[in-house]
Amino acid sequence: MSITMKCRHCQQYMGAVDDEQRVYELLGQQPAALDIVQMNDEGEVFVQLVCEHCEEILTQNPNLFENDTFIH
Ligand SMILES: [Zn+2]
Repeated sequence: MSITMKCRHCQQYMGAVDDEQRVYELLGQQPAALDIVQMNDEGEVFVQLVCEHCEEILTQNPNLFENDTFIH
């Protein structure tokens, strides 16, 4: 099963992995516990992460964590 990784804030495509376990290793924990895994109608699985760009912004503006979609 292929899993697509996207930034949860700006929707930037961050790559895809074929192995679900590999994603869990990258995250260091089970996505189920993070509520960041989504499946669309076609059965594709997405993992919502934070890209480097957004992470930098969030580091400088921690209050933006309250808003999931501050970049459009
Ligand atoms: Zn981003």
